[in-house]
Amino acid sequence: MADINNPVVYTQEVKKRISDFLERPDLKSSDWGVDEIQDIRKIIRNYYRNLTKKCFYCRNEISLRSVKNCHLEHIIPKSEYVCFMFEPKNLCVICSDCNEIKNNKEVAGTLEKVVKGKKTLIQYPRSSNRFLVVHPHFDDYEEHIRKIGDIYVDLSTKGSYTIHICELNRKLHKYGMESMALTRSELFDLFNEIMNSDNYTREMMLMNRLKDYFIRSS
Ligand SMILES: [Zn+2]
Repeated sequence: MADINNPVVYTQEVKKRISDFLERPDLKSSDWGVDEIQDIRKIIRNYYRNLTKKCFYCRNEISLRSVKNCHLEHIIPKSEYVCFMFEPKNLCVICSDCNEIKNNKEVAGTLEKVVKGKKTLIQYPRSSNRFLVVHPHFDDYEEHIRKIGDIYVDLSTKGSYTIHICELNRKLHKYGMESMALTRSELFDLFNEIMNSDNYTREMMLMNRLKDYFIRSS
């Protein structure tokens, strides 16, 4: 099941303010940060953080009250489509690390595509298959990425692409495999999952990851 099944719903008053804001002739993606819409950002942030309580990409904790480690994420970057800035299905909450990684790439213009095809979007895509990344409103994260301790294993092409874009195995690269030791209960869960799996591809991926783990940590 997707993390988010009920996107944020705006009141009529907020809807009117959003449409006025989007109609500004000189609107740019950096306007997202202006004080004037601070209360709208707060409504969105609080709604999604109460709903999911974790970072969508890395599944780590986010701040439950402060704004510091709870950032609003635009799945389709606002620099690419300013019109989807307030689109409820384009939003979720993420942690500071994931935000910084994606933000730096967005600012540097090196963020890779998240939507398939070259056609310019007029309406927000309505299905999972239009996206190259795992989507919080359309996809079941567990079908694409398996988090084992601090290690992220891809279970699909989408999973692999998302791990790459968000650099989810960042700790692995920074500190090496030694610091990635799985706890006994994580290993136990992993064995259990393999033993009870009825999906051959997934089973093989998990087996390979386990093999890697033992080879590298031996
Ligand atoms: Zn994160």
